[in-house]
Amino acid sequence: MQTLRDLPALRSAVQTLKSDRKPLVLVPTMGALHDGHMALVEEARRHGRHVVVSIFVNPRQFGPNEDLAAYPRREAKDAQMLQAAGVDILWAPTVDVMYPAGYATNISVTGISDGLDGAARPGHFDGVATVVTKLFNQVRPDVAIFGQKDYQQLAVIRRFVADLNLPIEIVGLPTQRAEDGLALSSRNAYLSEEERKAALALPRALGEAKRQIEKGEPVEGALAQAIASLAAHGFGPIDYVSLCDAATLEPMAVLDRPARLLGAAKLGKTRLIDNIAVDPV
Ligand code: AMP
Repeated sequence: MQTLRDLPALRSAVQTLKSDRKPLVLVPTMGALHDGHMALVEEARRHGRHVVVSIFVNPRQFGPNEDLAAYPRREAKDAQMLQAAGVDILWAPTVDVMYPAGYATNISVTGISDGLDGAARPGHFDGVATVVTKLFNQVRPDVAIFGQKDYQQLAVIRRFVADLNLPIEIVGLPTQRAEDGLALSSRNAYLSEEERKAALALPRALGEAKRQIEKGEPVEGALAQAIASLAAHGFGPIDYVSLCDAATLEPMAVLDRPARLLGAAKLGKTRLIDNIAVDPV
């Protein structure tokens, strides 16, 4: 595996890889890799495809009071994991390579990025859309793989890829969870032992609300109960627990089509997100 940090080196390595015409797959990450990321890498490797994994902690997707400085950085260990998994290139640009002096362009997706995390984290999805567009132009993959853990992010990416006619197949993979059900996340490293136990209330509250809604209970009551359960387990502030159209992410008051139940809340200093499918029976 080659670890590359500047564009000329990346371009030349990608050109060499592409010369055998096998598809090239990109897995964008912010590092501090866990089994959720590695499931994406494993999928990328299927059928002997070439794989580029990017690690870039993107300042533009963090708000001024968020955890950019504290975000876990473990590149040496990440590189070992990626090498063992058969990755061809680790693309790890510096902030100066990604955003050189004079950088002035922003990719902004309206509608689908306005609610949920877009409302709770102003500017977040502009940062995501901008960096993912740049990663696509830098690596020029045939396929890019993302996790459903960041469900709205995946929807935003699908939107601009379609809108901008980018010739890239977007694949979304199911959320990988710890044995007890907590979604794997680099941010779980922030949790104390006690918080780690309390964190389970998030998938449990979503699971309970899903059961109620699929049984035909009123959506509003099920969401209120989930919020109350999170608060009782020490979560706060709770940004949202919301039932949304699975494709457009418009809020739904009645389960009359495939939906997604999404939640985001802080536990101590750590902001956790999770989501599950809710389907009309
Ligand atoms: P991040 O490093 O958190 O930006 O995540 C990089 C990619 O890994 C994104 O596409 C995430 O959705 C995906 N990802 C993160 N956690 C998980 C998980 N638990 N299961 C599946 N994919 C994940």
